Amino acid sequence: MKEENCIFCKIASGEIPSKTIYEDNEFRVILDISPASKGHALIIPKEHYADIYELPEDMAGHAMILAKKLAAHMTAALKCDGFNIVQNNGEVAGQTVFHFHMHLIPRYQEDGNQDKLCWNHLELSQEELEDICEKLQQ
Ligand code: AMP
Ligand code: ZN
Repeated sequence: MKEENCIFCKIASGEIPSKTIYEDNEFRVILDISPASKGHALIIPKEHYADIYELPEDMAGHAMILAKKLAAHMTAALKCDGFNIVQNNGEVAGQTVFHFHMHLIPRYQEDGNQDKLCWNHLELSQEELEDICEKLQQ
């Protein structure tokens, strides 16, 4: 299914042109228009899924396998020194385009970004950690 006003549906279908570096039946991979580094790319499914919650498991598997292959290819081609794979879900998590996508971000020694993606580190008590652990164990 496609969403009428979704820019990534239009890019994935080719209706809006993009700098495509890879394409198959399920995915188009394009260069990000506002990249974090040279080579920053996005894996975009051709079908519309808003986020990881909507994405079917088999597509999630295929997307991860593709990310792994492209990480190797891009690292060799761009001679980058490291690689981030990022995937945001929900506004609070930084998602701005509500069509599932994975960021492939080549990292370079002097790329001007911080070493890691940045977040503050919480100091949680043993009780808090236990409480969270209990909630999550199944
Ligand atoms: P996110 O914040 O995880 O939803 O990521 C959305 C990404 O899409 C951002 O890195 C944008 O720079 C990128 N983006 C938005 N519009 C376009 C576009 N037309 N072509 C390529 N990348 C885009
Ligand atoms: Zn879409």
